[in-house]
Amino acid sequence: MGYSKEIIEAANRAMEQRRRQSITKAEQRRRSFFSRYPRALEIERELSRTAAKAAKAVLTGSNARLELERLKESNQALQSELAALLKSAGVSEDYLEIRYACPLCKDEGYVDGKMCSCMKQLLRDEAYQRLNALSPLSLSSFDTFSLDYYGEAPLKAGGIPPKKRMEDIYRYCKNYAANFDPQLSPSLLMQGATGLGKTHLSLAIARAAIGKGFGVIYCSAPNIIGKLEKERFRSARGSADESDVYLLECDLLILDDLGTEFPTSFSSSTIYNMINSRLMASRPTIISTNLTMRELEKQYSQRLVSRIMGNHVRLEFLGSDVRQKKRLIR
Ligand SMILES: [Zn+2]
Repeated sequence: MGYSKEIIEAANRAMEQRRRQSITKAEQRRRSFFSRYPRALEIERELSRTAAKAAKAVLTGSNARLELERLKESNQALQSELAALLKSAGVSEDYLEIRYACPLCKDEGYVDGKMCSCMKQLLRDEAYQRLNALSPLSLSSFDTFSLDYYGEAPLKAGGIPPKKRMEDIYRYCKNYAANFDPQLSPSLLMQGATGLGKTHLSLAIARAAIGKGFGVIYCSAPNIIGKLEKERFRSARGSADESDVYLLECDLLILDDLGTEFPTSFSSSTIYNMINSRLMASRPTIISTNLTMRELEKQYSQRLVSRIMGNHVRLEFLGSDVRQKKRLIR
């Protein structure tokens, strides 16, 4: 998969920092251990001297075998003395060694010239981070969602009370998050006026999915259209860029505020392609919008609306602006 130079450099920096940290921590452990057990440092020095002597013995030949045998014995004695010291200090056997975050590649990012899985994960994280930079992800959870702001009386005669509807939606979303599976979970359409908690619930789902280790991208329609437009402009090839790839390949895409972006033929076709490609690949998307079906059809196309209608679970948020009520209550 193609990553931009910026992302590769950031991942390399993070890897380098990780390695340096592993080394620094080992140095700190060694320093404190040697100050308490000076004999341990002597043993280490003797061990490296024996290694040098062994190499020399091999080179000089004559009595090599005898000499090697003797060195091996003294080496083993030193090793067990050190092991005993570590044990008496109550620390693990590898206490003086470097403990890498990834023992496979020793925090180099590559093993035998091949990219290690930890490096792939770092690249993915960097890419997601860039796309998620604009989301208030940390602020929204199911616990902080309150149903108290939704009215008990139906908005129109014979209608369902907003509170009842929102309880159902809240339960549905919580369940959706708890059982989220990128291969099985359906796409959702959250519809309703501003300030009814669509962003809050979609971010709570995002947070839960991230917690399970899935790759989630949150973007508002105006932001992502702006970003893609800029990338397209910069890229001489005019072909798929990193953002496109992540928008299509992430486990869950949250497309917030659909319909609030400036309508152009670019935005309209980009939105259609994004939603359609994810449907084709059976990857879930959560769309939230203030627009009704009719308004969506007017701003985009009948084609998009029928794709959404036929393939998304529709959640219709009810109530009057919760944010305004919160402000009045305070
Ligand atoms: Zn690794």
